[in-house]
Amino acid sequence: MRKSLMAGNWKMHTTREDACRLAEEVMKHCPTFADREVLLAPPYTVIAAVAETVSGSDIIVSSQNVCWEEQGAFTGEISPVMVKDAGGSAAIIGHSERRQLFFETDTLINQRVKGALDFDLMALLCVGETLTERESGQMLNVLETQIRNGLAGVRAEQMARVVIAYEPVWAIGTGKTASKEQAQEAHAFIRELISKLFEKNVAEQMRILYGGSVKPTNVDELMAQPDIDGALVGGAALDAESFGRIINYQKN
Ligand code: PEP
Repeated sequence: MRKSLMAGNWKMHTTREDACRLAEEVMKHCPTFADREVLLAPPYTVIAAVAETVSGSDIIVSSQNVCWEEQGAFTGEISPVMVKDAGGSAAIIGHSERRQLFFETDTLINQRVKGALDFDLMALLCVGETLTERESGQMLNVLETQIRNGLAGVRAEQMARVVIAYEPVWAIGTGKTASKEQAQEAHAFIRELISKLFEKNVAEQMRILYGGSVKPTNVDELMAQPDIDGALVGGAALDAESFGRIINYQKN
């Protein structure tokens, strides 16, 4: 069955010292798991330091975005080769903060996804609707558009390295979590869509994470849903105790 993936997005937090301390503390909460993986996405400046801190463990280190080119005149970007050189093996792409604050479009996000995959990174594609879109009945259309466009041109054999994170924008950093029923509905829809776009077995193997105010108090019920295969965690990932409890969820 699918191994779950518990991912911490540190956003624009941590200096080198904070990052190494946090990574060390997180490691203490990570025995060798048979059924789950842990991923940390620190800022670019500390990817190498975090990768060094967790080396020898099974923790996956990720960037928070990635360019599609290996190198060149792309001021402010990070290439997949640079992520790998720093010790990373994954990239978060299309986070709602990139879409909303930096106007990243589905076309740009698609280039990033394909670039990550072409250089053998795991690509965590984030999708999710705003509150207005949800309230006007547009949620499923929005998810379908973001996924169809985000994965355009991705080959079925590359899908083993794609993870989708469903992150309703209204739940990110707001303390409001989607109910387990709301999250499950969106995840089931996404899996069905992937099976239409690719094949049933691609959909069955693909991990779909939930993100949006995941906390120690709600992780167990979310993880008990059949189509929720992990969590993408922002705020609570900056506290090793909280993230440790999230990683060590128990399905109830
Ligand atoms: C995120 O950054 O992807 C996120 C879900 O943040 P938070 O957990 O703080 O809502």
